[in-house]
Amino acid sequence: MKTKSGDFVLPGDILGVTEEFVPSEWTYEEEGKIKSLVVGTVSIDQKNKKISIVPKTGTPPALEVGKPIVGEITDVRGQRASVKINKIKGEDRDLVTSFVGGIHISQAQKGYLAKLTEAFRIGDIVQGNVTKVIGLDNVDLTTADDDMGVLKAMCTNCRHYMVKIGKNEVHCLNCDRKEKRKLSANYEG
Ligand SMILES: [Zn+2]
Repeated sequence: MKTKSGDFVLPGDILGVTEEFVPSEWTYEEEGKIKSLVVGTVSIDQKNKKISIVPKTGTPPALEVGKPIVGEITDVRGQRASVKINKIKGEDRDLVTSFVGGIHISQAQKGYLAKLTEAFRIGDIVQGNVTKVIGLDNVDLTTADDDMGVLKAMCTNCRHYMVKIGKNEVHCLNCDRKEKRKLSANYEG
């Protein structure tokens, strides 16, 4: 498959191979292939062998480093929590495509955290900052800042959302369970 300047592409579309081109703005590399991160048109710089995308204006917002996002914890395993990224904080429109991010245990909070399950649980809604966009399903996030972390905590016992009772503690009014979280200063319960 060959793309040329001006071609309309969607997130995940293959643009070329890394032997031929250098991935540039709004692209990412996966197994030797250069792919688009956004909806837009292809721009090829033949002289420098660079391939980039000009994002289509008026389309939903794209993910960028430094932008706060809101997502849902889908898995907490070992050193990494997985997050389905639903939207960029402060933007009404949803993302063009859903991204999958990860929070490494060292990025969850300031200071030492013994277990990642003391910061996040499946079903929690979190606010995080993007530190790196490697691909559609590979976005690095941090929740270390005070306003970052869990916005809504889901009880591991009965799946109800919980209320904040301490700096990093929540309580389930439905089943009386208490759990720990890395809570955002903007906790919504
Ligand atoms: Zn409960």
